[in-house]
Amino acid sequence: MSKIDLKRANRILKKRPAASAFIILLIFVLLCATFVSGYYVFALYSVQLKMTGEADSLYNMYSTETDPLALLRQSKRDSFTTDSDGRIISGNKDNSCCYTAKPIPSSYFYLKTETDFEVYADKKSDMLIQADQDGTDIKLLHLFDTNSISDAIENKDMSKSIPYWIAFPTDDGGKLFIRTYLDLSVGDVIFTAAITGIFAFAFLLILIVLFVYWISNLSHRKSIRKLIFMDRISGNHNWMWFLIRADKIINKRRNLSNSYAVVNLVFARYRNFVLCHSIEHGERMLSKIYLEIASGVGPSDLAAHSTEAHFPLLIRFTDEETLRSTLNNIISKLESIEKDHKFGFHAGVAVIPPQTKAERRRIDLDNVYNFASAARMQLGEKDESGIMFFDNKLLEEQKWIDKVTEKQKDALKNEEFIVYYQPKYDPVSNKLQGAEALIRWQNDELGFISPGRFIPIFENNGFITEIDHYMIEHVARNQAQWLSKGYDIVPVSVNVSRAHFIEDDLAEQIRDIAISQNCPPEYIEIELTESAFFDDKDKMIETIKKLQSYGFAVSMDDFGSGYSSLNSLKDLPLNILKLDAGFFSNGDDLERSEVVVAEAIKLAKNLNMKTVAEGIEEKPQVDFLAREGCDMIQGYYFAKPMPASDYEDRMNRDETVSPSKEASSDTPGHLE
Ligand code: C2E
Ligand code: MG
Ligand code: MG
Repeated sequence: MSKIDLKRANRILKKRPAASAFIILLIFVLLCATFVSGYYVFALYSVQLKMTGEADSLYNMYSTETDPLALLRQSKRDSFTTDSDGRIISGNKDNSCCYTAKPIPSSYFYLKTETDFEVYADKKSDMLIQADQDGTDIKLLHLFDTNSISDAIENKDMSKSIPYWIAFPTDDGGKLFIRTYLDLSVGDVIFTAAITGIFAFAFLLILIVLFVYWISNLSHRKSIRKLIFMDRISGNHNWMWFLIRADKIINKRRNLSNSYAVVNLVFARYRNFVLCHSIEHGERMLSKIYLEIASGVGPSDLAAHSTEAHFPLLIRFTDEETLRSTLNNIISKLESIEKDHKFGFHAGVAVIPPQTKAERRRIDLDNVYNFASAARMQLGEKDESGIMFFDNKLLEEQKWIDKVTEKQKDALKNEEFIVYYQPKYDPVSNKLQGAEALIRWQNDELGFISPGRFIPIFENNGFITEIDHYMIEHVARNQAQWLSKGYDIVPVSVNVSRAHFIEDDLAEQIRDIAISQNCPPEYIEIELTESAFFDDKDKMIETIKKLQSYGFAVSMDDFGSGYSSLNSLKDLPLNILKLDAGFFSNGDDLERSEVVVAEAIKLAKNLNMKTVAEGIEEKPQVDFLAREGCDMIQGYYFAKPMPASDYEDRMNRDETVSPSKEASSDTPGHLE
């Protein structure tokens, strides 16, 4: 999983609904505050609207007049002017204006007028302006409070005319004061209350919408989290969740001194279980397994379900022994998770030792889990439970696999694969009877490599089919060349991998290669490994018959190394039986081995098959095989695998070999 994906998922995991809830609550509080003070805000606004309107119309009325006071007197408005020192210079000296107190400056008003003006209280009314000593605490609004409203209603006094003074600056630096009235009616109060109500309602509506959105978002987020971090099958945590949580745990400062085990725990025969039962039963089983594992790990450890029957775990541990016992406990409980059954569980373990912060940051958990899986894979397909720890040898192995895989294509193009020949001799006459073609790889960087190190990799990655073609083609070409030179050639066997047998036209492919190289089919023998016979017997029989009908001999390689050898013999129409080298290895009970070999040779003869004994290194083995009637011997006693040129020499000598001498003249190919 990429770091970016992980970061994104982490963000989703981090988001706490509590944070959003806090935001909603804050908005709610703000809205309530707005609701409570809204009435006053609107009341203030309407009063100011009236006052600024009045100021504007008065200014327009009198600003053009040469003698505004005369006009004012005429309209019976109380007024007066002052000089720049505040002394009354004309107009009514007994006015009721509180002009000696501080005025409300025009900057106090929201709405701007054509001129600057000031508002002063009238001594006969404290309803409108009530200023404190320094005139800062100005109460404009108590006329809107509930008492004044109820007073007004009780007294059927539905309107109020409140006197106040407006002052305009005059040209000589003085002021012109004009008495005017603020006319307020119950209608104003109702209007203000209605506006406040509408706004409050709108706010409430917004709040409800926000709240509904938040709730639905909450459940939506819950289902997204479920989708991303929950496993559909076991209903519990999944791989993504595991990666994020494990990353957090191992990177916590206080956890740096702890050792952690990343474990890949697998229900070994899950597929079989599903086949024998049902998918539903299998899935129920996975949930049960998950719960059992989760209860088996410590409170600060992690367990999740990733793919199929794989469970990643993160376990904190102090020493390997306690870790093993924790895992053993979990596994032994899992083994008997269902009555009357014993299941196998495989655990691969990769250890994260105590590290520095920087080292922990560099850890790629995906990779560590891969190591754990690689360790688990070492346990193979076996039914019994097991625990395997990852070590660097495994890592080296993996690196080797990567290198081989990376180089394979070019190696084929550059003809880096070399065909070695190992002769097969008649143990009685010591005459050359055949040979086996064995591959070697000569690479500039990797050196000279024997097949045991790369064939299994090719078998795994499928490249083996190309190798098989390559070998058949080269052997056919060599045989055709030797034939054209007039040599007395013998059949050469070529190994064909079991992976190749799934191809329907394998026999045709081999036939076509032999034809293309002008090699008669009787000089090529096809070796199949015994284990290949278990894959698809019918197809195998069909291919063998076709190969034989085209003129190729077919042999069974490594007979006796598997378990069902006799069964395969019964069903398969083979020409040659190659007895596995294991029969002749020193460790075994020799007498018993000889009995089995003797019987195998007899059996082959009765089935009209020739026998080849592989891995023969000593004279007594040759003598025994000669006595029992084994047709050919392939082993170091006679010769090790050798390059084509050496084999050509040997073929040409046309004489019986002197075994001890020949076997010592080894070629580089047998240094394996
Ligand atoms: P195999 O087909 O059973 O080949 C016999 C192996 O036994 C060869 O190992 C050979 O060198 C070795 N051998 C022969 N005589 C003796 C002996 O007296 N003592 C001992 N200790 N070993 C002996 P090699 O060449 O390393 O090949 C190993 C396996 O690799 C082969 O087993 C075969 O399964 C596979 N292989 C080799 N070449 C090819 C190939 O071209 N194609 C395919 N598909 N597999 C190949
Ligand atoms: Mg072979
Ligand atoms: Mg063999």
